[in-house]
Amino acid sequence: MTKRITVLATGGTIAGSGARGTGRGYTPGRIGVETLAAEARALGIAAELDTEDIAAIGSQNIDWALWERLHAHIAAALARDAAGVIVTHGTDTAEETAFLLDLTLAAGKPVVVVGAMRPADAVGSDGMRNFANAVRVAGDPAACGRGVLVVMGDEVFAASDVRKAATTSVDAFRGFPRGPIAAVTPSSLDWFGPPARAGEGARFAWPAALPQVDILAAYAGMGDCTVEALLGCGARGLVLEGMGQGNAPDAVIAALARAARGGVPVVRSSRVDQGYVDRNLEVDDDALGFVAARSHGPAKARILLQLLIASGITDPAAMQAHFDRR
Ligand code: GLU
Repeated sequence: MTKRITVLATGGTIAGSGARGTGRGYTPGRIGVETLAAEARALGIAAELDTEDIAAIGSQNIDWALWERLHAHIAAALARDAAGVIVTHGTDTAEETAFLLDLTLAAGKPVVVVGAMRPADAVGSDGMRNFANAVRVAGDPAACGRGVLVVMGDEVFAASDVRKAATTSVDAFRGFPRGPIAAVTPSSLDWFGPPARAGEGARFAWPAALPQVDILAAYAGMGDCTVEALLGCGARGLVLEGMGQGNAPDAVIAALARAARGGVPVVRSSRVDQGYVDRNLEVDDDALGFVAARSHGPAKARILLQLLIASGITDPAAMQAHFDRR
């Protein structure tokens, strides 16, 4: 039976077009999703696609209002007869949107975030191929119970693992601690293992709002003024994008410890691409009241910390349990 799939567009390069076929100089979010779907139908893609343009932005401008609208539309489509939902999205913040949705939707029917690295009218555009791959994933019953998925460059990633790791190449996405969990083409789909989250409900209720949580990047010679400035701007939580294992100069660690003592949760993550940030190695998290981000990069750590604060979970041990969870 032909699968019914809801496609919600938000913009990004997958809907981008430019003045030149070289792809240099273009505007994201210019092409309506129905155009994309019509092209897919013309290629003979076997699915019924219900489309809606939710927004037409570069994803660097995504905000709370759009996330809220997107979440509501996805929940409504899944409650109706959609076998799955595809969200077309800019790649810059695909990681954040996918992870936020992953934490706030049940791991039931597939929800697939897809984008492109080259605009639709550029030579070698990857948008239609990624979209065709996303249709294949969203229509596959074996995609259920895996949480929100990101489809890019003939690979499928779990939202909890994925990050954009290159600025321009078509295989710009990587996964940590797991790499891709499936290989996909418009005519094939191979899952590398069984669903890990079958039957799991939403980990967090959709919040009424997300609190201000800021990320501060550590560098050699850094002082404590960034911490003080962010607290002065109203930060209710802080994520350190630290060096190595989530380290920072002593003055920064001391300022963060003062923040944690004052009731502003602090999560230590790393500016390094891959690897865990574990508790109590060089930094005494137990004594200073910090949380270790474990496998979460700074952008994902921020989303999780926002949801924890919004849910009233601010005890360091309770927060750590969520960061430890896979
Ligand atoms: N910066 C834009 C965005 O994230 C375009 C980049 C892209 O989609 O790859 O939406």
